[in-house]
Amino acid sequence: MQIFHTISETRAFVRQARVRGRVIGLVPTMGYLHEGHLELMRRAKSQCDMVIASIFVNPTQFGPTEDFGRYPRDLERDAAMAESVGVAAIFNPPVEEMYPQGYCTYVDVERITDKLCGLSRPGHFRGVATVVTKLFNIVQPDYAYFGQKDAQQALVIKRMTADLNMDLEVVIVPTVREQDGLAMSSRNLYLEPEQRHAALVLSRGLERARKALREGERNPAEIRQLVIDMIQAEPLAEPDYVELYSYPGLEPLERIEGLTLLALAVKIGRTRLIDNAILEV
Ligand code: AMP
Repeated sequence: MQIFHTISETRAFVRQARVRGRVIGLVPTMGYLHEGHLELMRRAKSQCDMVIASIFVNPTQFGPTEDFGRYPRDLERDAAMAESVGVAAIFNPPVEEMYPQGYCTYVDVERITDKLCGLSRPGHFRGVATVVTKLFNIVQPDYAYFGQKDAQQALVIKRMTADLNMDLEVVIVPTVREQDGLAMSSRNLYLEPEQRHAALVLSRGLERARKALREGERNPAEIRQLVIDMIQAEPLAEPDYVELYSYPGLEPLERIEGLTLLALAVKIGRTRLIDNAILEV
C-alpha cells in the first residue's frame, strides 16, 4: 500500500490506474480508524478495482472551540488497518497542501444544513462540502463511500454531488456498532469508563423510540420527549439535540408516516456524540 502526502503524487497514481481502466473507490476519513471506517473500505473494495482512502483532519469543518487540536491521529496504526482490508493507497495531506496561503473558495449546501448539526456546529457542513469537493477533484473516483452514522452529512454530500453534477456515485454504508450498541466513532476514545457506559443512552434512546413507534405512537413531539427524558435521566449526559425529520427531505413533521430520521447529539462531558435511526412506519 502507498501513502501519499501530496496532491501531485496522488494524481499521478490515479492517472496510472485510469490508463489501466480501473474503477476507483474513495473513502474519505479523518483517520484514527475503527471498524466503521473499515466497513466502508470493504464495501468499496467489493465494488471497485482500487480503493483510495483519505486521512485528513479537516480544520475547516471544526469550530473555534471544537476538538481539532486534540483529535486523535496515528497514521502508522491507520495504515496497517487500511492495508489489512486491501486499500491501495492513502492520501494524507498536511493542512497547507489542502489550504495553501491565499485559499478563498468554499462550497455551501443550503437549507438541509440549517438544522441538526448545521445549527449546533455553524460552518461545519461548509467545511465538509468543501473538503469533499476537493477530494473528489483530486481523486476523481467512480464511487465514494460515507457512513449512515453521519446521516445529515451523507445527505449533504448526495445533494451536493447531484446539484453540482459531480460524476460519481455516493454509497451510504449502515452504521457499525460496538456489541453493546454504541455507534463506533473515533471520538469514543475521549470517554472515561463511566462516560463510555453513559454513552449507551444514545443507542438506548433510539431503541426507546422504535418501541414507542411499534406501540403505535405517531406523534414526533411525544417520541422526541421520550428520548430527551431518557437522556436527561443519565447524569453524565446532556442532550444537544433530539429531532425528527422526514427522510431524506429533512422537512419538519406533524405526524410520523413514511421514512423518518430520528437524529441525536448528546454531550458526555466535553465529548459530543451523534447517532441516528431511520424509522419506518
Ligand atoms: P470520520 O473519520 O469520523 O470523519 O468518518 C469517516 C467516514 O466514516 C464518514 O463517512 C463516517 O460517516 C463514516 N463512519 C464513521 N463512523 C462510522 C460507523 N460507526 N459506521 C459506519 N460508518 C462510519
